[in-house]
Amino acid sequence: MQKIDERRRITVDRRAFNHYEVACPFCGENVGPRFVTREHLDIPPNPPYAATVRCPRCKEEFEVVFRA
Ligand SMILES: [Zn+2]
Repeated sequence: MQKIDERRRITVDRRAFNHYEVACPFCGENVGPRFVTREHLDIPPNPPYAATVRCPRCKEEFEVVFRA
């Protein structure tokens, strides 16, 4: 069983995320750009490198880190 902290930060492929192929770690709902609440632009060269996402089904918030 995963700890709650680990589920709050997932590393994903940006392309998969853009195509709604990434599942919410809490309920399995597919999430994508429409559910981003905050983008993190601070790390070059390809911003955003991460985003905060709020799941439309279970309303959990978690960090999505894009794989380099
Ligand atoms: Zn969810």
